[in-house]
Amino acid sequence: MYNLECIDCGNKYSKSDVVYTCKCGGLLDIIYDYANINIDMEKLKYEPPTVWKYRDLLPITGNPVTIYEGGTPLYRCDRLAEKIGVKELYVKHEGLNPTGSFKDRGMTVGVSKAIELGMKTVACASTGNTSASLAIYGAKAGIPAIVLLPEGKVAMGKVAQALMHGAKVLSIRGNFDEALALVRTLCDQEKFYLLNSINPYRLEGQKTIGFEIVDQLGLKVPDRVVLPVGNAGNITAIYKGFKEFRELKITDTVPKMCGIQAEGASPIVQAIKSGAESIIPESNPETIATAIRIGDPVNAKKALNAIRESEGTAETVTDEELVQAQRDLAQLEGIGVEPASATSVAGLRKLVEAGVIGSEETVVCVTTGHLLKDPQEVIDACDRPILVDATIEAIRDVVFPK
Ligand SMILES: *Cc1c(COP(=O)(O)O)cnc(C)c1O
Ligand SMILES: [Zn+2]
Repeated sequence: MYNLECIDCGNKYSKSDVVYTCKCGGLLDIIYDYANINIDMEKLKYEPPTVWKYRDLLPITGNPVTIYEGGTPLYRCDRLAEKIGVKELYVKHEGLNPTGSFKDRGMTVGVSKAIELGMKTVACASTGNTSASLAIYGAKAGIPAIVLLPEGKVAMGKVAQALMHGAKVLSIRGNFDEALALVRTLCDQEKFYLLNSINPYRLEGQKTIGFEIVDQLGLKVPDRVVLPVGNAGNITAIYKGFKEFRELKITDTVPKMCGIQAEGASPIVQAIKSGAESIIPESNPETIATAIRIGDPVNAKKALNAIRESEGTAETVTDEELVQAQRDLAQLEGIGVEPASATSVAGLRKLVEAGVIGSEETVVCVTTGHLLKDPQEVIDACDRPILVDATIEAIRDVVFPK
């Protein structure tokens, strides 16, 4: 049993209502009857490691639309930890989800809910990964998907996925924030089901990242979780996961949530640093990390609350810093990520250098998307392959330079 509840006025909605925000404009949260939920972690050990392992805490009763999302590895990263100067560092590699990003966790729940509500078409605006994920789950469910992308600002791998899985792909002459405003209008007018992260069902799937971290650390809670922030849904969702495990007495604490943004798209960081109640939107967000090139994050209010309530923090990184972190992840740990994902590690390094995060802390960085999502950025950041004649001498000259 669960309700949707407005975080501002407390107004409640039922699970059969098609709503995204409250009448008052506030964001909605999904609240369960926690007193009647019993999770036996011992028993869960024998469940397949997917989002649906935790279905007692998910808002879907029927058969879900699933392609085995979740269950991503939590790598212990000692070489990277040494370079950065923390004792215990883990990377939760969400790039290893079916479409290569954590968006699958939200979409399996979101599209399952669309089917449960009898919706006929699903739609979203996207910086790329949401569209790839919606296209796949729409295909699996057998309903049409419509995606709006900001023209020229979406990484190639993501567009390829959206196209091949059969979504109707529109390239908007405008940025992500404009595309989102448009798709919201379209969904209201046409009764399409909106699957951006303003939809609280998306966040329910994504909170399982928090559950899995606890599970994988042997029911321990890390001191910190550091992750990139764009539309600010994921930081909200992961925090909710930790809070629910505490509520159910599986754990007794929550980690400090640390949100990282690119310097050119950092309204959440600005609000945290200034202590402001709400964000000031950035009208021309700019960064090579296209997944977080967002100036007006819709979940800002929830994210500011997650950061403040958990006594976490927020920091910006430059494009150069995040590319360096991308290289470190790849070359010290064998973890290939897209640029946005590397902000977590770049931000961690900065916060450790500044003494905000202590060297004794146990830290989990979430890497949100796979390297192959954005091959162009990699080609721009790395040297070209070395072209040689097809002779052993030519090869030896390169392998053993004089
Ligand atoms: C969507 C996305 C983000 C940002 O997540 P939000 O929930 O919008 O804050 C970060 N990295 C990648 C790779 C993404 O796809
Ligand atoms: Zn309200």
